[in-house]
Amino acid sequence: MRADYHTHTMLCGHAEGLPVDYVASAIRHGLSEIGISDHAPYPENIDTEVRMAPAQWTHYRQWIAQARELGEGRIAVRYGVEIDWFPGRMQETEQLIADEPFDYVIGSVHYINGEVFDNPYDLSIWTPSGAPDRIWIAYMEEMCRLAGSGCANIIGHFDLPKKFGYFPTPKAVAEVDERAREALRIAAENGVCIEINTSGWSRAVKECYPAEKYLRMGAEFGIGLVLGSDAHTPSQVGARFDDAVALAQSCGFTHLTRFEERRQTRIPLA
Ligand code: ZN
Ligand code: FE
Ligand code: FE
Ligand code: ZN
Repeated sequence: MRADYHTHTMLCGHAEGLPVDYVASAIRHGLSEIGISDHAPYPENIDTEVRMAPAQWTHYRQWIAQARELGEGRIAVRYGVEIDWFPGRMQETEQLIADEPFDYVIGSVHYINGEVFDNPYDLSIWTPSGAPDRIWIAYMEEMCRLAGSGCANIIGHFDLPKKFGYFPTPKAVAEVDERAREALRIAAENGVCIEINTSGWSRAVKECYPAEKYLRMGAEFGIGLVLGSDAHTPSQVGARFDDAVALAQSCGFTHLTRFEERRQTRIPLA
């Protein structure tokens, strides 16, 4: 089984292509399953420039229906979404997605204390002294909360703060890793999966998310695993999945998880 569960569409305002384009690409790349997981609308008053609007669900749902028609008999198409973890605003987010028949929900942390830390056009959040340690520790604390919140089926890009190559200083690594371990334990206990997100390999950090050490921790806890390209353009679908599978196996994973109507099953990796 090869399923790509993390893909975006032009609806979010910073990606290209329609679900049919992603499905066509997935078929070309020999995948057996593709999930579309565009960014959900944000709660009110949080920047809406790069997210779909609540009124656009109808398009999104219709596009998925078209994509399923195209995939019929060739590839399974899953209806997913990527939501942002905003402490204190999750009830609103849950309301925004409540009426959609999603197969799975990816939960991601892109904000710390209301500030985005992975915007390539503004990295100023990273420059004050001590910032990387503070951001990494706060990030993993939010990960623990997200993992136990019941908001998500899959945690997106588990160690995203490394995207531009900023890492905790050696004295903070143990603290970060302790929280990361706790987040993975909580996720595993709650049936929340992680993903190998291959987009990290094409970022400045040149590593997939999560790093090998976190994958090993997750495997020890028996956490579920999915693959995702985080494609923002159709040609990126399934990127470096052979490398991802090899890495998963070397870290102790034996299965991948698939989702249908929020129910999960595990399929052998080999
Ligand atoms: Zn995006
Ligand atoms: Fe994300
Ligand atoms: Fe994404
Ligand atoms: Zn993402």
